[in-house]
Amino acid sequence: MISQKHCPFCREPALTGCEHLALAAEGRDFVRRCVELCQGEKPWRALCETRHREELASGEWSPEREDYTWLETAFCEEFLKALTWFGGMEYEWRSGANPAQAGFWVLLWSKAPRRLWWELRDELECQGRERRPKVAGGPKSELRNPKPESRRQTSLRL
Ligand SMILES: [Zn+2]
Repeated sequence: MISQKHCPFCREPALTGCEHLALAAEGRDFVRRCVELCQGEKPWRALCETRHREELASGEWSPEREDYTWLETAFCEEFLKALTWFGGMEYEWRSGANPAQAGFWVLLWSKAPRRLWWELRDELECQGRERRPKVAGGPKSELRNPKPESRRQTSLRL
């Protein structure tokens, strides 16, 4: 059993719900709620479709690669952790009005939840547009001419 969690910023119990609790949701709802709260449904759909297409095209598709679409840990790793306003993610055991509702809830903390959601929306839009390069390196690295190096070697030889 995981004990009750407290806000990392003001120490309020998570159940009380302070201003830093960006989201408290059941695990299975977490990703969907995040996308809703940042009003990012459109960029999110685009992002998922783009990635799915790219993975199929490159032959890298596997169910695990798309965990971020429903698994809170994968979503957090992929989109939330890097955000400036990400304050932490925790689990809390909550028992509902009836035993069937009991379960783990995912808590998302932020010093400024509204900014966190703006940031997340930007992130989704940005990653949805991003074309991931297929080949590492590319012709650019070959263009870099190591002239100073060869000149130094020449002078040393003289
Ligand atoms: Zn707080």
